[in-house]
Amino acid sequence: MAQAEIGLIGLGVMGSNLALNIAEKGNTIAVFNRTVERTREFYEEAGDLKDRIIPCETIEEFVAAIKPPRPIIIMIKAGEAVDQQMEILKPHLEAHDIMIDAGNANFRDTMRRFDTLKDSGLTFIGMGVSGGEEGARHGPSIMVGGLEESWTRVEKVLTSIAARYEGDPCVAWLGENGAGHFVKTIHNGIEYADMQMIAEIYGILRDGLKMSATEIAEVFATWNKGRLNSFLIEISEIVLRAGDQLGSEPLVDVILDKAGQKGTGKWSVIEAQNMGVPATGIEAAVAARSLSSMKTEREAAEKILGLPDVPPLSIGDKAAFLADLENALLAAKIGAYAQGFAVMAAASREFGWNLPMPTIARIWRAGCIIRSQFLDEITKAFTESPDAANLIVTPAFAAMVKETDGPLRRVVSTAVLGGLPVPALASALGYFDSYRRARGTANMIQAQRDYFGAHGYDRTDGKDSHHGPWGSGLVAERS
Ligand code: NDP
Repeated sequence: MAQAEIGLIGLGVMGSNLALNIAEKGNTIAVFNRTVERTREFYEEAGDLKDRIIPCETIEEFVAAIKPPRPIIIMIKAGEAVDQQMEILKPHLEAHDIMIDAGNANFRDTMRRFDTLKDSGLTFIGMGVSGGEEGARHGPSIMVGGLEESWTRVEKVLTSIAARYEGDPCVAWLGENGAGHFVKTIHNGIEYADMQMIAEIYGILRDGLKMSATEIAEVFATWNKGRLNSFLIEISEIVLRAGDQLGSEPLVDVILDKAGQKGTGKWSVIEAQNMGVPATGIEAAVAARSLSSMKTEREAAEKILGLPDVPPLSIGDKAAFLADLENALLAAKIGAYAQGFAVMAAASREFGWNLPMPTIARIWRAGCIIRSQFLDEITKAFTESPDAANLIVTPAFAAMVKETDGPLRRVVSTAVLGGLPVPALASALGYFDSYRRARGTANMIQAQRDYFGAHGYDRTDGKDSHHGPWGSGLVAERS
């Protein structure tokens, strides 16, 4: 067999599917996995695609199997494993070979790795891949960060394997060094918020309206035909319909209410905080997952505190309330996406990436977990208003917020009065209400800060008095 155009290290869930996708699109690929047995097993299961796969059992064999300059995708456990793998690989590579970390790396690690390799003649790409197992196999969304010249060398193969939205490939070069992994991190942060908001709506339907899993599935099925049409709403219906193989209950009802997390949500929140950009939807979602994992504590607390002593949910007309829920979810989703894009805009300025917002929304329209038609609307909004300070002040989204914030307010109020937790939905409402109010309440905070810490303040009239005096010249004494 001729030398491979590309190599891939790591034949776990993502790597093996990505390798099959690459081979299926007509590329010859060399593969290597730390545990040799897995390489053999993978090759045996590759069927017709074996012709374009070169299984390698040693790094020497692997490197020799790839045509120089070699693009090598590393798709292994994120973190130290990637540094170790790069160290093992480095002595075998030549100038212009490209190491492509396709795992869920922290973008700060990507920046460090990029800098470390800068003077070595080797190049580095940090590449975010979204879409899970299915996406990796049949078309993921791919977010590339690195030198533009490195991207042009891998563009063809990456374009061949990416998802397509109406024929348009969901892959793009987004900027240098950590840009691709940063965007992937925020993608995941938005995914956390989106999932949490869906879970809160599910909670209102299950605990407030006492609907069964199948009945809730019907609601999501209807919504998936409307403006909420998305992969996450689609799979919500599917998981709600699944039965338990070990019993007769819906499967979702026997799943423990403890959510896992691997770090990208937390990283999104940390970076948003570092840059002073509110990402309250993602924060609420990460906190909700943490609270969910405190199962034993919550069980003990319920025994001590009991559930809130409130009357049953008062919803009036059920059809009208379901319409409110649909619009409330759309409104909250707008808030979370607006925040995610605002975080990326701030990072773009801070790290000099010049992140293309319409392109990011464009490559998220298919292949990734948050894929939806909604992202097509975001693409259009940022294309038409490239200098908008925030998604929610672009004409199309301002109109949507005005249309849906009423339902969101009614749903949040109803849930709160009914004792149901809706932290992510409420966070979106709080964000809208704060962001649209020209005169807020931080004058009070500034006054307090100046009182106890002489931190100073700016005046509304621009006059040049930046401290107290406090405790003298009381307004009441003057009048
Ligand atoms: P798996 O657990 O399925 O596979 C892990 C792979 O990493 C295996 O090939 C394993 O090799 C290899 N590995 C682990 N430690 C080392 C090491 N020290 N040196 C060399 N190889 C090592 O993981 P996934 O395929 O799910 O994930 C891979 C990456 O993709 C991760 O960064 C993950 O966050 C990211 N990702 C995952 C998604 C998903 O839906 N699963 C979606 C998007 C990104 P061995 O067989 O020898 O153990």
